[in-house]
Amino acid sequence: MKNFNFHIRHQCPQCGAPAVLEETDRLFTCGYCRVTSYLLQNGVFRYILPAAATAETEALFYAPYWRFKGVFYSWVPGDEIQHRFMDISHLAIKSDHLPISLGFRSQALKLTFAAGQSRGRFFKHQVTKNQVMDIIRNRFNDTVNTPLIQQEFIGETLSMIYLPIYSKGNRLFDAVLNTPLSSPLPASFDIETFQPEPRIPDIRFIAALCPACGWDLTGARDSIALHCNHCNRMWQATHKGLRQLPVSHVPEETGSNTIYLPFWKIKARTSGIDLKSYADLVSLANLPKVIQSSWHEKPFYFWCPAFKIRPGQFLLLSRAFTLSQPGALVSAIPEGSLHPVTLPVSEAAESLKISLANFIKPSIITQSKAQSIAIHPETYRLAYIPFHQTHLEIIHPRLNLSINKQLITLAHNL
Ligand SMILES: [Zn+2]
Ligand SMILES: [Zn+2]
Repeated sequence: MKNFNFHIRHQCPQCGAPAVLEETDRLFTCGYCRVTSYLLQNGVFRYILPAAATAETEALFYAPYWRFKGVFYSWVPGDEIQHRFMDISHLAIKSDHLPISLGFRSQALKLTFAAGQSRGRFFKHQVTKNQVMDIIRNRFNDTVNTPLIQQEFIGETLSMIYLPIYSKGNRLFDAVLNTPLSSPLPASFDIETFQPEPRIPDIRFIAALCPACGWDLTGARDSIALHCNHCNRMWQATHKGLRQLPVSHVPEETGSNTIYLPFWKIKARTSGIDLKSYADLVSLANLPKVIQSSWHEKPFYFWCPAFKIRPGQFLLLSRAFTLSQPGALVSAIPEGSLHPVTLPVSEAAESLKISLANFIKPSIITQSKAQSIAIHPETYRLAYIPFHQTHLEIIHPRLNLSINKQLITLAHNL
């Protein structure tokens, strides 16, 4: 399935100059005043579709649609992990007179943030986030016949898009296309009965400056972790502001042309299965190794890519590094080229049971046992692993892994 990022018209928070952001942009440098700011997520992002100029004299109402983009992973008993990319919108109020989805119109149009929009009235959503997730889940599960062990959305973006509408004569009109939306409305229909949204939260930009030393922070436009080159700290953007991230790296062994890929190294407590030590991993994954007594003392960690990448490569990398359990880490940010962190640790934490399904030997557990397993993440750090870059590929020679470079650079659309 084709995926896309839509564009958002917006103004520099410092000087008010117009700018166009991509949906995934977080770090924004103004082309006029050169000030760099960071866009903080405060709940879901809310956008509006632009009303056509010819509809501007009408009294506008904004109808909410949930918009979901992400990969849905399913642990199917006795089978490989299934994954599917989804990009869908769904009406968030209960009405028979509005289209159930926005279709593809939002791809071609430039949106604006809903915050700060003074014209028109926003309808409050009636379908909750969990309800819309269930609708998406059911739509997927209709195509699968077996009961599933676990399903997760990983690395998803959930936002709300408002469609401007107006009422004229006995019809509702789509103010974007300026065309009628519905067949004639019944006499009982009253647009005023939809509850208004009391307040659209403001968009928050913060200065991209190191909280420790005041130096400019650097990162890719879609990074969720920002680097201070001056005091060599890494900062993670949370809804409360910037927090320092614990960082380690595996020392380089590949020589020149190194790129460090970021991973979340997660310690978790499991119930329903023993997975505390390296010895437990070796037996659950049925690795061809003779368990040494010291392995019972060696703690087990989940390893998960800290960047967005296509599902096949996501599974490949989590499996390869979780099985190899990289050791001898240095507690510092490595010097050299760092690939941006674009997948939050909260998303990585949701991937742990899928990660387990990805390496466990299916013959080792029954389906009901698999269903009873729960994994509770406890601590994490960001850990960089050196890869060797060639013109077309990113290679980890010792694990015999190679990834097409394009799959990494194009992944910001996911
Ligand atoms: Zn500016
Ligand atoms: Zn600093």
